[in-house]
Formats: sequence, C-alpha cells, structure tokens
Amino acid sequence: MARILVSACLAGEKCKYSGSHNLIPAIAELVRRGKAVPACPETLGGLTIPRSPAEIQGGNGYDVLAGRARVVDEEGRDVTAAFLRGAAATLTKAREIEAELVVLKEKSPSCGSKLIYDGTFTGTTRPGPGVTTALLREHGFRVISEEEFASKVKKCGSGDIIP
Ligand code: SF4
Repeated sequence: MARILVSACLAGEKCKYSGSHNLIPAIAELVRRGKAVPACPETLGGLTIPRSPAEIQGGNGYDVLAGRARVVDEEGRDVTAAFLRGAAATLTKAREIEAELVVLKEKSPSCGSKLIYDGTFTGTTRPGPGVTTALLREHGFRVISEEEFASKVKKCGSGDIIP
C-alpha cells in the first residue's frame, strides 16, 4: 500500500503554474511502483494550469492558516481561499493513504518545507513552510522537502525508502 504522499510535480506531472514539472526520477519511480501517491494542492484547490505564480504575503503557511497572512498572485489577486481548499484536500488524501511520510516541493507557497518566497516576487526567500505543509504538520504528518528526500536516498541507497 502506498504510504508516501508526494508533490505531483516531483513525480513529473505538469501541474506547475507554468505548465511544467519538477521531475525527480526516484520519486516518479515510487509512484510507478505504487509506493507513493501524487497530489497537487494548488490544482486540488481549483487553480488552473497554467496560472499566475503566487506568494505568501505577511508570513508563512501557519500565518495563512491563522488568518494573519494571505496568498496573492503576481497580478495582485487574493488566492488564499484556493490555497486553503487545496491544503484541506491534500490533508484528506494523506489521511486516506495513512501517509507515513510526505515529500513536498521546496519553496512553493503550498508545498515549501523550510523555505518560501517572501511575497515580493523578487526571488527572495524567507524561512517557513507553505500552506499545505503547515496544515499537514499541524495534523501530525511528517513533511520533508525533495532535497532532504534526495540526501536520505543517497545515504540509504535506492531500495524501499521510508527514511
Ligand atoms: Fe508542485 Fe505543490 Fe506547486 Fe502543485 S502546488 S505544482 S505539487 S509545488
């Protein structure tokens, strides 16, 4: 049974705002073998592909959940509601598969694990998780980035990976 939830773009799905992906072959292989399930919070929340890039303004994912910060796209539209919907749908999926591990794309306003962009659309990052990562962590799920995942795979070898 699949017990790992992964960002769909890491498995090669073209769900990024640009219509592209962030393929990591080892993650796609886990999905192919039925050990991981892909999810894209932003499309689950109703956003389109392609879409305008978005960033969190005024804090991180925990602040968005608490209503202290919002998610805004590059055109200035408030897309907070879609991000919250997507986070809730991803939490449902993590519960359904009883995920032991969640591997999400670093720096995304949904999936960021340790870093997110700072809301200025200048490529500047700040510490903190994205909205989906924050919600999953609040509910006890273990969330790591693809970078952490890759370093653990390197250490453990590429077998059955639950680092
Ligand atoms: Fe990838 Fe997450 Fe962005 Fe979807 S929301 S494209 S899964 S980083």
